[in-house]
Amino acid sequence: MSVSATSPAPVSAFRRASTALSQWIDSDYCPDGADKMRAEPDKVDWVRVMPFVFLHAGCLAAFWVGVSPVAIGTALALYFVRMFAVTGVHHRYFSHKTYSTSRTGQFLLALFAGTTVQRGSLWWAYHHRHHHLHSDDPEDAHSPHVHGFWWSHIGWITSRRNFPTDYSKIKDLAKFPELVWLNRFDLVVPVLFALSLFGGGWLLELHAPALGTTRWQMLVWGFFISTTVLFHGTGCINSMAHLMGKRRFKTKDDSRNSALLAFITLGEGWHNNHHRYQSSTRNGFYWWEIDPTYYGLKILSYTGFIWGLKPVPQSVLDEGTRAEHVASVAAAQRAALVHPEFASLKKVVPAAAAFAVATAAAAQTTVPPKANSPAIHRDVTEETHNMAKKNLPAASAESP
Ligand SMILES: [Zn+2]
Ligand SMILES: [Zn+2]
Repeated sequence: MSVSATSPAPVSAFRRASTALSQWIDSDYCPDGADKMRAEPDKVDWVRVMPFVFLHAGCLAAFWVGVSPVAIGTALALYFVRMFAVTGVHHRYFSHKTYSTSRTGQFLLALFAGTTVQRGSLWWAYHHRHHHLHSDDPEDAHSPHVHGFWWSHIGWITSRRNFPTDYSKIKDLAKFPELVWLNRFDLVVPVLFALSLFGGGWLLELHAPALGTTRWQMLVWGFFISTTVLFHGTGCINSMAHLMGKRRFKTKDDSRNSALLAFITLGEGWHNNHHRYQSSTRNGFYWWEIDPTYYGLKILSYTGFIWGLKPVPQSVLDEGTRAEHVASVAAAQRAALVHPEFASLKKVVPAAAAFAVATAAAAQTTVPPKANSPAIHRDVTEETHNMAKKNLPAASAESP
């Protein structure tokens, strides 16, 4: 057997580029094998990520197409509706199966999640499960502690090794060919979605010209800008939810809870909660932790489209309550150490209170009411004045 038959031939730049171009259409196209691609070191594949660069560049077209209230309203609405798809479908259904639905329901959910332009639900679920398995260790594809902020926010999805979906790690999803098809041809839904926005804008242009909305505005604001902002909102969880916020649970990673991130991502900001218990449908474990995705899923469950939403176990809730108490006590102790005046206040405040009570009591006993006094509301100042007048002769006698 010759050496060339056993050693892998070096992959030429042309072959890499043609493979990347083919992957624009067919995400599963890996002529050299997906395992081999996953084993490569991290490196940006510029040809493969051109659609992603184009998505960002398309936002600049806003300077040419202008703006209208309908275009802005569409961009905002599609941000929140599709953030619900990211969190409620990509994450809480496909990645963690925190609720159930029918096979048709799951296909419709995958179509809905496809409009987020965050690749296929199976790719999303595979990488997310990998994140939970290797959180903040060197294997984690998007840990800010291992790879830095920008790589965990955006860099990792441009890396060649992170493009293939490892179907062997998501067998519960890979057994549905319709889901695999949507994952493989993950550009189909985004293109149809963009075209429908363009078509909707055209209809508005023709039938409601008074709105001042054009087909190009609907494409640029509704698709390019809204989708780009949606990507970065989602990316904040990868980059910031392991850096910013509080840690209620002592998980093995550095996940954190942040109300600000929860607002941006409709509840995903309660990331430390989620790392502690991933199977629950809700990420906001307590009533004050706002979790709009959970509320939406709860409402959806009343229709019968989904069911079996999984709760947070009482033992986990109790653990969180105990951890909060311990953290409060520790914070108070730290405050006393860092700000010693707080510690002295503990002595000053009771002493001042005792002094005030004693003074009031003394005022009552040393100034008895006078029966012959015309006033019944005589105050301490008045009495002091009278006492001074009584002592006047003695005081004068001492004067020179
Ligand atoms: Zn995480
Ligand atoms: Zn998760």
